[in-house]
Amino acid sequence: TCALVWFRQDLRLADNPAWFEACRSCQQVIPLFIDDPSPQTPSQLGAASRVWLAQSLASLAKQLQAKSSRLVLRQGLALTVLQDLIKETGASHVFWNRCYDPVSLERDKQIKARLKEQVQVQSFNAALLREPWQVLKSDGQPYKVYTPFWKALLKTGITQALLPEPAIIPSPKQWPHSQVLAELKLLPTLPWDQGMMAHWQVGETAAYAKLQAFLATTVQQYQTARDRPAVVGTSRLSPHLHFGELGPRQIVLLAEQYLAEYPEASSGIQTFLQEIAWREFAGYLLYHFPQTLHEPLDQRFNQFQWATQYQVQLQRWQQGQTGIPIVDAGMRELWQTGWMHNRVRMIVASLLTKNLLIPWQEGEAWFRDTLVDADLANNVLGWQWVAGCGADAAPYFRIFNPILQGEKFDPAGEYVRRWLPELAGRAVKEIHHPRVLGDGWNYPLPITDLSLSRRLALERYAQMRA
Ligand code: FAD
Repeated sequence: TCALVWFRQDLRLADNPAWFEACRSCQQVIPLFIDDPSPQTPSQLGAASRVWLAQSLASLAKQLQAKSSRLVLRQGLALTVLQDLIKETGASHVFWNRCYDPVSLERDKQIKARLKEQVQVQSFNAALLREPWQVLKSDGQPYKVYTPFWKALLKTGITQALLPEPAIIPSPKQWPHSQVLAELKLLPTLPWDQGMMAHWQVGETAAYAKLQAFLATTVQQYQTARDRPAVVGTSRLSPHLHFGELGPRQIVLLAEQYLAEYPEASSGIQTFLQEIAWREFAGYLLYHFPQTLHEPLDQRFNQFQWATQYQVQLQRWQQGQTGIPIVDAGMRELWQTGWMHNRVRMIVASLLTKNLLIPWQEGEAWFRDTLVDADLANNVLGWQWVAGCGADAAPYFRIFNPILQGEKFDPAGEYVRRWLPELAGRAVKEIHHPRVLGDGWNYPLPITDLSLSRRLALERYAQMRA
């Protein structure tokens, strides 16, 4: 028997059910990655994510090589590539781990139906703690509110035994042709990626080490430090989780082990696990409500009167030139590192969707292109949450005031100074305030009057409800 293992968003060898099953049950195993140009497959990934993917694939290939195996890379439509490889290698099995976004699910359903005529096909869950269809209300409907979802998830028992990394990887007698990584053209032509990637270490080993380090130290202050963008108060595991270099089951099990050993870290660990469950909730919602990829879950928002002429304002927001310091600091952190602190993601999203009335889909698209952790489910959930139109969203009338948010969560202005060097000399009490005409600072005037635009947003909301 010969298995093709199709790696997608599960770029790891430990606790990888498809990989484990292939190595356990087949005499030859061929690891495969396909760069598929279809919508929302890796070719459609944003530029920052493609850079991450390139490094993650290189890392996986190296791990496989160290175990006398290889990663076969192919570019093309997934079904065609799989059919070609089955013909070339005589494969009898195809294994993969499921992606739960609607586009991948539909594609995989069709591929499975076609391949089943020739070979055995099996898919597994490596991405979520529970299958989305296993956590339902008593009437069989999916949850739309986080807290009851989290409680129901806990009842299913979130701590699970892990699958070990297979000790032996059975190789094929003859390796099929592999394209070289550079041929996939994941990296940009202008080398802007080096500065961004200097902030990260990519791959399964680095991801697990980061989790261990986080649980050993940072997690103890997680509850308070997680809202402080100037400090490293969160795990920064999001890109590793997105690409599956680390799975949520591994996180839960290790967190439980630390909890047993360091009970003083209990509140931090519990809060951290609730964030892992927000990720789970995002995947769950997108599975049950696939239309939310493009549309608001709260359909009343289809009537909402968004701005229609906003290109210039959108560009100022994207470039971190809104004249609102905490917003610009966040947008520049994003541009330079491929990541933005969660508190600041909420602030910049609120300014875009409420003060500027720009449709949330524009923000979602920019984040998708620039975040190394861009994730369909988490991104859509985050944007709809802030815009007030998603499941269990922030109420629309809660409009963040970016000045007060800055003063509360970046009280010394450290974060703003780090990313906006032009404001480094400003006094602490002024650091979060927009510039006023004639004050001499080399910084743009504010993009909007915060209180006027807040009032307009509330009026639009009242009109929609009426
Ligand atoms: P930690 O605080 O260490 O949390 C651990 C993990 O839990 C994260 O890595 C992430 O996988 C998950 N998580 C934490 N918060 C959330 C949340 N609110 N929703 C879903 N999962 C969460 N996260 C993404 O991974 N990809 C995105 O594209 C994305 N887009 C967002 C857009 C907006 C407008 C907002 C408000 C949030 C978005 N988030 C997104 C959620 C969150 O901001 C990031 O997951 C988090 O900042 C990542 O940093 P961390 O790994 O240090 O988080």
